[in-house]
Parts: sequence; C-alpha cells; structure tokens
Amino acid sequence: MESLRIFCRQRLAAIDADDRRRRRRVVDGGHGVHVTVDGRHALNFCSNDYLGLATDPRLIDAMATAASRTGAGAGASQLVTGHNAEHAALEADLADWLGRERALVFSTGYAANVGTTAALVSKRDHIVADALNHASLIDGARLSGAAKHIYAHGDAMAADRALSNEAVRSGHRLVVTDAVFSMDGDTAPLARLADIAAARDAWLMVDDAHGLGVFGPDGAGRVAEAGLGSDRVPILTGTLGKSVGAAGAFVAGDADVIETILQTARSLIFSTAMPAPVAAAARRGIAIIRDEPARRAHLRALVARFKAQAETAGLAVAESDSPIQPVIVGDEAAALRLSNALLERGYLVGAIRPPTVAPGTSRLRVTLSAAHTDDEVDGLVAALAESWSAVGLSAHAAPACVSSA
Ligand SMILES: *Cc1c(COP(=O)(O)O)cnc(C)c1O
Repeated sequence: MESLRIFCRQRLAAIDADDRRRRRRVVDGGHGVHVTVDGRHALNFCSNDYLGLATDPRLIDAMATAASRTGAGAGASQLVTGHNAEHAALEADLADWLGRERALVFSTGYAANVGTTAALVSKRDHIVADALNHASLIDGARLSGAAKHIYAHGDAMAADRALSNEAVRSGHRLVVTDAVFSMDGDTAPLARLADIAAARDAWLMVDDAHGLGVFGPDGAGRVAEAGLGSDRVPILTGTLGKSVGAAGAFVAGDADVIETILQTARSLIFSTAMPAPVAAAARRGIAIIRDEPARRAHLRALVARFKAQAETAGLAVAESDSPIQPVIVGDEAAALRLSNALLERGYLVGAIRPPTVAPGTSRLRVTLSAAHTDDEVDGLVAALAESWSAVGLSAHAAPACVSSA
C-alpha cells in the first residue's frame, strides 16, 4: 500500500529529525561481561544480568538437560498443555523464595504486569501510580480501563492525597509502583506506600524487577528486604530475565489472588507458555541466588566503589544504591557522544534518551554486575572522566539531581 509506505517514511523522517533513531547492536556469542559488539570487544556495563548468571554453566546445563526431556517449545498456552512439570516446580520455588502462598509464571515481565493489572481492575476502578513507573505498568493501567492518577515520583504523601480524593472512593483502588526504578536506580518508599494503601483500603502492587537477587534476605528483593509480606504487598511481580539470568516473569501472592489472575489475565491465556527449559534455567538461577550470598555482597561493594570513585572524579552520581547507576548528562546528543566515546575506549554503556526518560535528563545508564572486578569498575570511571571532557562536556554540565517529571 502506497499510503503505508508514505506513513512509515514520514514517521522515520520525524524520528531522524529528532536524532532519535535507535539501532540494535549485533552481539556475538555470550552475553557476559566481555561482549563482542559489531565485531569489537567491549566490557559490558549496560546489562541487567546483575549476578552474571545468564552465562553461568549451571544454568546452561539446566536448560540443555531440560530441553532433552521437554523439547524446545511449550507448544501451547498454559491452560491448554503448555504447563510443564518444570513450570509447576518453578512456581513452587518462587512461592517459597518470596514467602507467598502461590506464584504464577508469565512469558515476560511485560506480559505479567499488563496481564495482572488488567485482571484486577477495570472501568470504575482507580490506579494510583508513580510517575516513573515502568512502561509495562503504564500499559497495563491503560489496558485495564481504570482511571489513572499519577503521583510525583517517590512521593508517598502525593499517593495518599490521590487516594483521599472523593472521586477515587468508588470502585477499587490499585496503587502501583516499581520497587527499584529502572532508569534512576532509586527505590520507592515501599513501607509508607503499604501503610497508606492499608489505611485507604487500596491494593498495593509492586514490581521488584531490579530488586530481586540483589537485595533482601536470600536475595528475595526490595520487598522482602522491607519485610513486607502478602498482607502488605498483596501483588508482587518480577522478571526472571534480569538477575535470575533466564527469561520469563511471575506474579506472586495469596492463592485466591493468583488463581483469579490465572483465570482472567489475557496476556497469559492467549499466549504460548514459556519454554520449559527456560523454567529449568530460572530454577537453577534462583537456587544459586539463595546459595551464594557472596555474589550480591560483591555486587553491592562494586556499587559503593563506583559511587565513591565517580564522585571523586567529579561526575554527578545519582541517589541510587542499586546496580543501576545513572550518570546524568542532560543533552541528548551529548549523551550519545559520551556513549560512543566510551565504546571507543572499550566500555559498553547505553545512552538513555527521550522518550524513555524525560527531555533534558538524557543519561548514561551504567549497570554493575557481580561478574565485574574492582579493576574493571575503576577502569570504567577513568574512561568516563576522560570521555566526559573529550566530548566537550564541562565539569558542571550535569544537573546534580536526577528526579524528573
Ligand atoms: C525489565 C522490566 C520489566 C519487563 O520485564 P521483561 O521480563 O524484560 O519483559 C518490567 N518491569 C520493570 C521495572 C523492568 O525493569
């Protein structure tokens, strides 16, 4: 169709005019700390594989062994014949790890958040959401049809004000937040949100995608670290594609809540189940997280090291104690130049620009992994400081504060 071609050309021209066309890098071989991108070696500082488990031989072995028994594909949705013994075992492991009655596996975190949100609220209900929530939570809210009330980032009092509004008293109220925010690395005021939700008779849903494996007893996440059980955080979601080192995701909570989501979440019902070998790899990842606390201890030491060194080097560090350490640049083009300058020095760090973040807050999103060494982090900070001046950024170019609209 000629009109389709014209439409797409115009869209692409608009993206190019804003200098926002994104290109995928072709990664060759494994996705570890050492990667070959577009044919050249680089140290990877932009992965969410926080514990280095994605390339762990034990996960690879679990996946291969399971595949020889289950085959490669699940073949059907969960409610038909796609729910394998590996999935059932994974759900039991998740429930045990997270201290919930039950867990339900989805193919991706995106599907888990969209499906769960839309399963629990609808028209005439209300969603009260942090301004910097992950896109999957935003899209879930949209799809649900509930009225949306966005509160200022991290502001529990603003969430409370939204809930106290007379118009919000009708129907159900779902408060939704990331635990650790994916672009800023900071943490939601989880205990206060739980108090507020309880006082206002609202349901709290927390997405702990970036806290799992990194924080809390047994690495069970930010929610576990804050001591919040299912009485306080009745709906807990997370992905298995980040620190767990596999793929897929889950929602966990009381049995009736999870059964309701299983019966009604369209992103689960109308989608082929995650391959069983992936479930086997995720189980191994969870077991390693629980058995090897030294991984997260090393990771947290690296985070502290990065922050201290970056501060000494005069870089603007963010208020984050997580492996997500944004270095705010401000200007989009400058962030891109900085990322390229780092790649020339052998460091792969993603530039994050609008629409992923608010205009004027373009940044490098440095992520640290337990698979990095102290020397590699030192090298990154040195290369960052060098590249900062090499691309013509002045010492005080970066705004000191990360939070954005
Ligand atoms: C990555 C991410 C997701 C999506 O998880 P996938 O398994 O990658 O689809 C959801 N929520 C947050 C906060 C994330 O960072």
